[in-house]
Amino acid sequence: MRASESTNLYFQQAADQLKTPEWMRKMLLMPKREVTVQVSFERDNGSVETVVGYRVQHDNARGPMKGGLRYHPAVDLDEVRALAALMTWKTAVTELPYGGAKGGIAIDPKTLSKKELERMTRAFVDAIHEIVGPDTDIPAPDMGTNHEVMSWFRNQWEKYHGFNPAVITGKPVEEYGAKGREEATGRGVGLLAVKLLKRVNVRPEQCRTAIQGFGNVGSHASKFLFESAFPVVAVSDLSGTYYNAKGLNIPEMFTYSIKNGNRLEGFTGAERMPAEALLELDVDLLIPAALGDVITKENASSIRAKTIIEAANGPIDPEADALLSARRILILPDILANAGGVTVSYFEWVQNRQHYRWTLDRVRQELDHTLSDAFENVWQQSSNHDVSLRTAAFMLAISRVQRATELGGGAV
Ligand code: GLU
Repeated sequence: MRASESTNLYFQQAADQLKTPEWMRKMLLMPKREVTVQVSFERDNGSVETVVGYRVQHDNARGPMKGGLRYHPAVDLDEVRALAALMTWKTAVTELPYGGAKGGIAIDPKTLSKKELERMTRAFVDAIHEIVGPDTDIPAPDMGTNHEVMSWFRNQWEKYHGFNPAVITGKPVEEYGAKGREEATGRGVGLLAVKLLKRVNVRPEQCRTAIQGFGNVGSHASKFLFESAFPVVAVSDLSGTYYNAKGLNIPEMFTYSIKNGNRLEGFTGAERMPAEALLELDVDLLIPAALGDVITKENASSIRAKTIIEAANGPIDPEADALLSARRILILPDILANAGGVTVSYFEWVQNRQHYRWTLDRVRQELDHTLSDAFENVWQQSSNHDVSLRTAAFMLAISRVQRATELGGGAV
């Protein structure tokens, strides 16, 4: 199933519950604008590379569009389209004053030198600068991009439009970034894990946890859960799964990975298994924090966890979702589970617009408030309507976007 088909299926399940009319569904599903651009840049050896760049602007009924930039070889228009729609629902479920967008370039950034990465990013900005801006569409980091890329993006955009750091979020802290933005998505996953388990009366110490992916999201989620007394028994990255039945020493792995170019390869303080073994381990909580579509109908029956928190975007496809739900496996959906990142992006944008800086404590407190409110609303919606947390989250999000569309006159 294509990525956008999966997202749209989840949308339809919630729209059925809401009895959203057909004409409104069509409006809400179709992206406002999809842009495909040529990105040509010079390699260090003097040759010219040409790659394709995308920006999909899905919906702006609730505010300027917001969403990350992904540099990954699997990026294509359909994936960006699905991720842009997820951003619309994510900002709506957390009640941030934004719509949704996403962008990306189909390339493996690890094959580029830093200078090449910078030239490619600047060429991308040259191609899309007119359609992004602090009041229209605000990019951010996603897979394969980081604060440095955000900095180049801002600098190139400002060459056309003048000083305005609010054009992009996820910037370095010393260059108008927000304290706590880097850890925010992983921290949010951790905060929500604590809230979810409390609801089902499971204590953290009883919850053996496995986390797929040790990038920005997975590593910070692991750290937060470790500090909250969860036995994190397995984490994985491309180099393999690292396992310890008694719980891994996450702080040690965190430091090791940073020193080792964000890879766990070579870490010897744990039992080693193939990367794919992680998903099927006998654990209580499973957190996919890497790519999309990792749990499908092929492997759904091998999943042994009782609870899954979707830290990645779209890690479970709809067929697997139905199979897991039938087995009463509790799933916290991506549009809520990984919303910590865009929430702190919002705080960064607010600070930039006010020329004011928040302390890390304030960022963390407000993140907790935003996610707690969203979680309680989704939980209530799910019990009131006897639907899954995913359908409940989509129902809240769709009804808010629908209402904004009607109020804004966009529906006539
Ligand atoms: N790329 C992140 C996401 O998928 C963050 C987006 C943002 O901060 O705007 O939610």
